Amino acid sequence: MKFVLIILILFTNIEIYCQKITYNHGVNSKSSDYKQVMRLFESYLKSNPHNKRINRFWNSVEQRDHENFDFLESEFLPSLYSGFPAHVLSIKSNKSNYEIKVQFSYCKEDGTPYVLAIVNYYAKKENGSFKLYNALTINKKEWNCTTVGIIDFYYPNYHKFNIEKARKTNEFINKLCKDLIVKSIPFEYYVANDYDEIQKLKGIDYYMGMGGDTTPKGKAADDKIYCAGLGEYYLHEVFHVQIDKYYPNKHFWVSEGIATFLGGSRGETLKWHVKRTNDYLLKHPEVDLSNMLTLSNLDFKTAYHYVLGGIIAKKIYEKGGWKLIIAFMSSGKTDQEYYIAIEKYLGIKKEGLNLYLREQLNIESKKL
Ligand SMILES: [Zn+2]
Repeated sequence: MKFVLIILILFTNIEIYCQKITYNHGVNSKSSDYKQVMRLFESYLKSNPHNKRINRFWNSVEQRDHENFDFLESEFLPSLYSGFPAHVLSIKSNKSNYEIKVQFSYCKEDGTPYVLAIVNYYAKKENGSFKLYNALTINKKEWNCTTVGIIDFYYPNYHKFNIEKARKTNEFINKLCKDLIVKSIPFEYYVANDYDEIQKLKGIDYYMGMGGDTTPKGKAADDKIYCAGLGEYYLHEVFHVQIDKYYPNKHFWVSEGIATFLGGSRGETLKWHVKRTNDYLLKHPEVDLSNMLTLSNLDFKTAYHYVLGGIIAKKIYEKGGWKLIIAFMSSGKTDQEYYIAIEKYLGIKKEGLNLYLREQLNIESKKL
């Protein structure tokens, strides 16, 4: 892809393989510490961080404690380091820390900028030399932290922590892990009213898709859950954090379906999404559910992979309990394997899915 850098001539330009780095004039390149921090960041980008291998430019503690130690890397698919030129907007010192603010963007052929993200890293000395740190590791110290069971809950001052919900989440995990025969995984759970507060804590000032109304939102990432407007008891993401890594050979719809069956999605129960989808489909007979994997969002609130995936997971559970759910979670990643698994466990062929799913949505939406 051809990238044209924004107002290129104004900046010092250092080419690093495919990932270009430029600096704002404001960056103090004369001081020795600033220079070291600049070189550190350049070296990190040059080291192909999307490969997620052990990296000598990143601090050892985060690498020891987290398999995917650069939390920003997977925030953007396929990776933050997928070739966008990096423009260092500022490097700011705060006691012994240096905050590096970076814009990942390019200029489209019509001249308009395409900004993927503006993110922050920290540089701090470890054994005498600067290493990179996640902003989250530093920033989370500003939030309150309460540990309940295997979960460290982080939340801002205004949030009234709900210990009952926190306990219930732990109870859910204990039962889930027992039923699915896995060992529970300790994790961090971030709670706020608005998702952008969490993004800020992670060091993300701007991301493509930012803006719009404040709506409930949750996200699971390795050993962390980020939840906005959903409180301490949002089980959808809990399922992802506890179970996904143990059963990697499953289709995306299997994962999202079971997560929605157990914990709803986007802050609403499966039942809520079922009613909504049923109403919509009654008015839209042309939608063919036998090709359901080609469908994505019904609207801003409901997505087919949640609601249809959820109904299928529910039916499989009702037929064979956790044992069948475990088998379903090892039935393969491809679309074809997903359809084969439905036929195997529910006896419904792909071409019969439109009729079957419409019937089931109708039945489920009428249940109390
Ligand atoms: Zn999910």
